[in-house]
Amino acid sequence: MDDTTARERLESMLAELDRSIGVLRGDPVAVRDRSAADAGSDLTDTDRAQAMLTVATAQRGAVVAALKRLDDGSYGECVDCGKQVPEGRLEARPEAARCVQCQSRRERRR
Ligand SMILES: [Zn+2]
Repeated sequence: MDDTTARERLESMLAELDRSIGVLRGDPVAVRDRSAADAGSDLTDTDRAQAMLTVATAQRGAVVAALKRLDDGSYGECVDCGKQVPEGRLEARPEAARCVQCQSRRERRR
């Protein structure tokens, strides 16, 4: 995948995430309206929105970081070991910062 394609995909991901984050942040009214009819679901809806917001915010950070790596020319290199991240991995996740080995090492540590 060349840099231009990567940038286009990352920028459209970023736009998509910004939209989702905007909806999740700015739409408590919809949540409240629904829970007025069913007060019991209030916490669940809020929790779910909060969880989605956390995931979307984290992914947005990864996308922004990937765009920065495109700018400084290090895109496609693993941020931990500096080896080339396999093409197939970048196709699946253009925001990936690490090769599979470093990513799984990192996840094990958590
Ligand atoms: Zn690595």
